[in-house]
Amino acid sequence: MLAECPDLWSGSFTVCFVAGSGRCSMNPIEVYKKLPRKNCGECPQKTCMAYALALIKGDATVEECPHTDEALRKDLSEYRGKDWRNTLIDTLKNDIKHIDFNAILSRLGGIDKDGKIMIKCLGTDYFIDRNGEITTQGHINPWIKILLLHYIKTGGVGEPTGEWVSFSELKSGMVKETSFRRDCEEPLRQLLDNNREEITLMIRRLGGREIHHPSADHAWKLYALPRVPVLILYRMEDEELNEYGESHVRILFDRSADRFLDVESLVFLLEGFIHIISRR
Ligand code: SF4
Repeated sequence: MLAECPDLWSGSFTVCFVAGSGRCSMNPIEVYKKLPRKNCGECPQKTCMAYALALIKGDATVEECPHTDEALRKDLSEYRGKDWRNTLIDTLKNDIKHIDFNAILSRLGGIDKDGKIMIKCLGTDYFIDRNGEITTQGHINPWIKILLLHYIKTGGVGEPTGEWVSFSELKSGMVKETSFRRDCEEPLRQLLDNNREEITLMIRRLGGREIHHPSADHAWKLYALPRVPVLILYRMEDEELNEYGESHVRILFDRSADRFLDVESLVFLLEGFIHIISRR
């Protein structure tokens, strides 16, 4: 059965088909009508419509609405987005099932909390159980899940070395260098240029510590993950130098960073950091 439904993210119309179910796979109104519609704000999305959209995209789980019974959760799970991120999450969950949590706990800088590993990521505590289920009081989405599960899957290899290197010096960093500059360093430069005091405050709130660095006006050391420190170097604009005096941001990593996360995950980690501090 074929059906047409509005793709509310792009504004276009999408033809979609769910084999055997006869349901349109992307109809948020249909999902919305099934919800308790209390708009109580108890799910991370805060409204029933936002929750319906997130569920279809695969960014929410059926457990996140506390006002559903088992029958409704089963029904809703058929609408949950089956995008590649959820497939990857399932694969990673399977991969980490065989990992000895006790052996990796200290290597990852995690803390044991009733059999779960607690890992602080960008100022938020995440609790990961042996099945790869992740809970938190803070924000969670498929990208964060992938990031944390990857971090656990590496099992922690060695300690940070204390040597700072550029993104391009990390394994496969050259391939992603342009994205890193465009999506991480450049937005951070603009944020600091426009509102340095508030951004400094946000960096501090995430655990960043201002340090002295000879080639920067401001420098912060921050633990994005317990074993993934980053060094942010910011040089302010110097008007006297005209076009040579533009402001500049560089984000450096510990030499060991690519042993804890691949470069794609590091880009995402820093994008998450920018996203958090820009919500000030
Ligand atoms: S928790 Fe459930 S009822 Fe409340 S806003 Fe979210 S989806 Fe709606």
